[in-house]
Amino acid sequence: MTSKIITIDGPAGAGKTTISKLLSQKLGIIYVDTGALYRGVAFEIKEQNINWKNGSDLEIFLKSLDLNFIMKNNSLVLMSSGRDISDFIRTPEISMLASLTSAKPLVRTALLDIQRKIAEKQDAVFEGRDMGTVVFPEAEYKFYLFADLTVRAKRRFDEMPEAVKDVNSVEQEMQTRDNNDSQRQIAPLKPARDAIQIDSTFLNIEQVVEKMLKIIEKP
Ligand code: C5P
Repeated sequence: MTSKIITIDGPAGAGKTTISKLLSQKLGIIYVDTGALYRGVAFEIKEQNINWKNGSDLEIFLKSLDLNFIMKNNSLVLMSSGRDISDFIRTPEISMLASLTSAKPLVRTALLDIQRKIAEKQDAVFEGRDMGTVVFPEAEYKFYLFADLTVRAKRRFDEMPEAVKDVNSVEQEMQTRDNNDSQRQIAPLKPARDAIQIDSTFLNIEQVVEKMLKIIEKP
């Protein structure tokens, strides 16, 4: 791998996306939210009413899947068969379906190539669950970002529209997803052995990015 790759893994709501975005801006490189790909798979499964628990149905579906990112106003936008689906993939239902379907080896294999192909062409910050452990084990810098569940749920809740006003259900949904993601057989959520772990419970976005930059820019 010739590109400079920085990975950020961690549980839901730890601030990975916001932090990756800011870090990549400071470094003048792109960032890739790999959770969006898993959400894209879940969205299409729902749209096309795919029986994903059936191996051959899932395989046929994945062969027809055409997910990729395009650059729009300096950020990557997820496209599915030429359609911008980024506005539809952030619902609680898609979050949960993404967590369930991402445990399928066929799904993970299908997305592996897309992620590595992006990295062939350019330097990037990749964020997800298995960036440092599976997708880019040779990455130059690997971070594992975490925070207390209650703090993560409160942060996510504060970003949500007024209509969603139940912090307990946000916390429960996060806990379920974290359990699914860390207990699955393939590519479970966990820090890479050589990851630098950052607890963001008492840190804001800027403080986390500053910590990362100090490590990356150390001569
Ligand atoms: O990061 P985000 O919360 O958007 O990811 C949605 C779901 O996609 C996660 O709960 C996880 O199950 C799955 N995912 C994954 N591996 C990644 C990124 C996301 O399994 N690298």
